[in-house]
Amino acid sequence: MARGTPKKVCVVGAGMSGLAAARELRREGLGVTVMEQCGDVGGQWLYDPRIDADDLLGAKAPVKVHSSMYASVRLVSPRECMGFSDFQFVPRPGAAGRDARRFPVHREVYHYLKDFCAAFGLADAIRLNTKVVRVAMAAPPPRDACCGGGGYSNAKWLVRTRHVEPDGSEAGVAAEEVFDAVVVANGHYSQPRLPSIEGMAAWRRRQLHSHSYRVPDPFRDEVVVVVCCGESGLDIATELCGVAKEVHLTARSVEEAAMPAPMVSKMLSKHAGIRLRPQVDRLCEDGTVVFADGSRAAADSVIYCTGYTYSFPFLDTGGLVTVRDNRVGPLYEHTFPPALAPSLSFVGIPTRIFAPWFFEAQARWIALVLSGKKALPPEEEMLRAVQEDYRAREAAGVPVRHTHAIPAIDRKDICEFVYRHTDLPRMEDWKMELFTISFVNTMEDRETFRDRDDDSENVREGLRRWRRVSVAQYELR
Ligand SMILES: Cc1cc2nc3c(=O)[nH]c(=O)nc-3n(C[C@H](O)[C@H](O)[C@H](O)COP(=O)(O)OP(=O)(O)OC[C@H]3O[C@@H](n4cnc5c(N)ncnc54)[C@H](O)[C@@H]3O)c2cc1C
Repeated sequence: MARGTPKKVCVVGAGMSGLAAARELRREGLGVTVMEQCGDVGGQWLYDPRIDADDLLGAKAPVKVHSSMYASVRLVSPRECMGFSDFQFVPRPGAAGRDARRFPVHREVYHYLKDFCAAFGLADAIRLNTKVVRVAMAAPPPRDACCGGGGYSNAKWLVRTRHVEPDGSEAGVAAEEVFDAVVVANGHYSQPRLPSIEGMAAWRRRQLHSHSYRVPDPFRDEVVVVVCCGESGLDIATELCGVAKEVHLTARSVEEAAMPAPMVSKMLSKHAGIRLRPQVDRLCEDGTVVFADGSRAAADSVIYCTGYTYSFPFLDTGGLVTVRDNRVGPLYEHTFPPALAPSLSFVGIPTRIFAPWFFEAQARWIALVLSGKKALPPEEEMLRAVQEDYRAREAAGVPVRHTHAIPAIDRKDICEFVYRHTDLPRMEDWKMELFTISFVNTMEDRETFRDRDDDSENVREGLRRWRRVSVAQYELR
């Protein structure tokens, strides 16, 4: 590359992770192009009333509609813990359509991400309605294991895109462009993970994944089985019980159905209309759903709230990065594939972290490495670290599918990552405390935790400082 020409970096996706990446890469003087398939930024937070109507289960990959947000979603984490380090998620009480609450509705996050884009002048880097259909090495260079980074660290990438029309169809001829690096930030709450249940394929009544759930109205007066009592299962069962004739919510086992977690018990005690059942054993052609304890329900609809899987339908790494049992690997620190680092990287893979703080840290690290300010260990060392991480997780009994879960509640791993790889300011103690209290309150009662007012004096003092500093951050921009 000619001296002085900045590296050209393509970012796939303009959600929280992609925007974090764009901002950090620009800060380091790199040439950034963000490809976004939707007509606006925001990713999951760009609520889309459309659903994948011809594939309600989302069984065909990739799904056409990206966002899985249902209309009633409110944040589970306090907004004070959900800001970029230098652009906090402050309430904007005077601004139209805003929700100033600590746990606002999903639309507030979208507005915040739009504000972030405007504040850092990112719009001109983003190509909307542009879907990435292929990312592959442009003429793979010979492997050149050098110090720092992988054997293909200097690979260039051919990115093929197609224009997306407002109705979601892809139009025109594909465009191709070569980049020095690609940052993948395409999210992982879109492609349903479906259970394998006897009779599912033959069942003729309505079955959908929560990806295709938006509002309760279509289920009025129905008998609905909600599979899995995770976060979305609990939310959806609760709001359905106001409109449906019967709601059957399934636990993971007969034992769990008999002795549910306190959070589930609390919810059941408030909603007599929800019956907790063990897992579904089979679906019968006449519409009967048989549960593992032999009990039955004549259901009109089954909603699978069974989570999502990682999916990179556009990415061709020749097998150097794979997704197996929801493990994307190998990825050094969930970010760089050792053989391809740093020319290929990922932002947003980890779950249960502080978002967007963690994404910001991943993005900052990538930007520092691509600009030459930080070096990566050699490929073999990165691979060894990945294997060690896998072994430690296995020894701790963590299933493979939870490889990328780094619980924020444990704090240590997340903070160590951020402080080890970046110069971002430390997460203040009061925020940690607020996050922990909110988490504990959620466990106690999912429906009222947002309305509690039990901040400690430490949190109140932190909040006073936060308001002063963060409002000034907005005004500065
Ligand atoms: C129902 C629900 C509730 C949630 N609640 C919370 C919460 O309370 N708190 C919290 O912290 N997190 C919550 N999350 C998780 C939240 O979505 C993530 O924290 C965050 O949005 C991830 O951002 P991201 O940028 O990595 O991915 P996304 O937001 O998914 O953004 C990815 C972007 O990439 C684009 N893209 C994908 N493929 C392509 C392609 N081929 N070409 C071009 N563009 C592409 C997409 O259109 C999208 O804009 C929730 C998620 C769901 C589904």
